[in-house]
Amino acid sequence: MHFRAGQTRATSANLAAMPHDHDHDHPHTLLPPEPALRVRALETILTEKGLIDPAALDEIIETYQHKIGPQNGAKVVARIWSDPTFRKGMLDEPMPLLEELEFYGRQGEHMVIVENTPEVHNVVVCTLCSCYPWPLLGIPPGWYKSDAYRSRVVREPRKVLAEFGVDVPDDKKVRVWDSTAEVRYLVVPERPEGTEGMDEDALAALVTRDSMIGTGLALRPEA
Ligand code: FE
Repeated sequence: MHFRAGQTRATSANLAAMPHDHDHDHPHTLLPPEPALRVRALETILTEKGLIDPAALDEIIETYQHKIGPQNGAKVVARIWSDPTFRKGMLDEPMPLLEELEFYGRQGEHMVIVENTPEVHNVVVCTLCSCYPWPLLGIPPGWYKSDAYRSRVVREPRKVLAEFGVDVPDDKKVRVWDSTAEVRYLVVPERPEGTEGMDEDALAALVTRDSMIGTGLALRPEA
């Protein structure tokens, strides 16, 4: 029933266990009921017609699963925390800086960086499908693609965040950002207390994937 299984960690399994109170005919539900099956069918047809090379597909998947991942985003966040000039650049116009860092490419062409503050907590969703900043975070987690997350986080963000273990106080605003095929978002979590004087590598180790989606917080140094 709750995301709270592992505090900031949620799995598609506990999401799937939630009551399915959403409408399966919701117009935003564009994914087929059995996406994996349909993808496999498409891949077979495209391969047979010689339109794709399965080895190239495997290479792309391997790259995003094992070589590109949330560690890229974590480095960016640690540097935003540490370097005021870089922070300003990333909030104003991130693309030139991301290109320089080579955290650029498909599914990350138009990034917007949103910063959590004592006043605002940001959280990211793609209500239409599963748009996600691949070059910074890798492949999206299963729950991010689920109907439950996509429909509920816009309707009742505080409740969904609480299920992830993020309790947002009433006097703090929650802002939900809806990704599109064009624009992808990265959340900069608040820098935890007790991290003064830590270098960027040590800071990056505190930045979890979920904290950059907004469904988690950065780890405290003692954790
Ligand atoms: Fe999408």
